[in-house]
Amino acid sequence: MAKATRIVVALTRRAQSRGAVFQGSTKVLGIEQSGGKVTGVATTAGVVPADIVVSCGGFWGPDLGALVGMDVPLLPLAHQYAKTHQLPELVGRNTESSEAGFPPQRAMGSSNRFTVARAAAVCSPPRGHTAARA
Ligand SMILES: Cc1cc2nc3c(=O)[nH]c(=O)nc-3n(C[C@H](O)[C@H](O)[C@H](O)COP(=O)(O)OP(=O)(O)OC[C@H]3O[C@@H](n4cnc5c(N)ncnc54)[C@H](O)[C@@H]3O)c2cc1C
Repeated sequence: MAKATRIVVALTRRAQSRGAVFQGSTKVLGIEQSGGKVTGVATTAGVVPADIVVSCGGFWGPDLGALVGMDVPLLPLAHQYAKTHQLPELVGRNTESSEAGFPPQRAMGSSNRFTVARAAAVCSPPRGHTAARA
């Protein structure tokens, strides 16, 4: 088990040590092009010159693709999420100091997933997806 937030911080530090620059709270507004080639990215903090642009927009990918007329075949879906009240037998299982004493469980043959969060059981069955984007 690994903590996603710690991994992201570690990856960020490693990338920065090799010259990457992270610019938070900056929205991409457009992709500048000339002669059929990318020349930069227009953002709320100005234009960043670039000859290669990589879209890492997650499920906003289709919106970013549309900036250059590219159809990104990605459809965000909502799935069900059920959470119980606090269960005495789960108290103390997953704490900040003990890390994950009760790792996520997956029912074989189905895509149902069970996790323990704050001593409550969480079930997230991805079946029966609801489209979040028309
Ligand atoms: C409720 C929930 C629970 C999840 N649980 C798990 C889990 O337990 N385990 C697991 O492995 N995965 C989980 N996932 C999935 C996981 O979060 C995603 O697969 C992962 O975050 C995708 O990473 P990404 O970097 O591709 O995109 P994202 O993390 O979605 O990052 C995209 C980024 O692009 C930014 N962005 C979008 N448009 C613009 C723009 N115009 N300008 C600038 N920035 C922009 C967004 O603000 C965002 O920060 C979960 C997702 C959700 C929603």
